[in-house]
Amino acid sequence: MTHFMQEMTWKEYASCADKIVILPIGATEQHGEHLPLCVDAVLAEGFSLKLAEQIDGIIMPTLRYGYKSKPMSGGGPLFPGTVDLNGETVIKLVYDVLTEIIRDGFTKILIMNAHFENEAFIVEAMDLVTRDTNGIAKILETNWWDPMPSHIIDQVFDEIPFPGWALEHAAVTETSLMLYFKPELVHMDRITDTKNAEYMPYYRYPICKSDIPETGTLASAASSSFERGKLIVDSVLHELVRICEKEFNK
Ligand code: ZN
Ligand code: MN
Repeated sequence: MTHFMQEMTWKEYASCADKIVILPIGATEQHGEHLPLCVDAVLAEGFSLKLAEQIDGIIMPTLRYGYKSKPMSGGGPLFPGTVDLNGETVIKLVYDVLTEIIRDGFTKILIMNAHFENEAFIVEAMDLVTRDTNGIAKILETNWWDPMPSHIIDQVFDEIPFPGWALEHAAVTETSLMLYFKPELVHMDRITDTKNAEYMPYYRYPICKSDIPETGTLASAASSSFERGKLIVDSVLHELVRICEKEFNK
């Protein structure tokens, strides 16, 4: 049977209430000149499917919009194609979806997030839902970068230095993961050897486009490869399965 909730009948879905349900959350956001706008949605769904295959989970329809892209972690809102939600909208969207999943009887929920800026708003929705449903369901939120073991980061960045997670936007990890999950959407010939964005350790509004490299890539994507993508997927998947076993006794 399919792992995708939207491909099931309502009876098939209802019969799965003892399984772990995975909610992928991404964004619609610029990812440089060589990657499509759907990167965060593709990665959230890609990791969700890999995990669902291992734990026999159910995947909810991917939420393909996210909280506002920040200049120093996603290039920001001044690039065409970055379609942002207000924080309040993200909280309400995630709150409503979680409430409906719980109302259908599911009690094991894992949110697979692939857009850095979403996190605080997702966690807020988790807290509000938990209060309003008396903690009847266990809800986890994770992503693909926090569970990644540090020795894997060293292996992925064996040719160029790791610029830190904030600047790792449309760079080696996301490009390599796209080469793994959806290579037909990667324009390898358009990767330019750009200088890394100069990191600003503070927020400033209004946002200045000149703070961000023109391409929208915050750090070099050179050395990206399918093999690096596979290395990340295999190691992160291993950690995700461990998290589910620990938290859901699965
Ligand atoms: Zn991204
Ligand atoms: Mn993002």
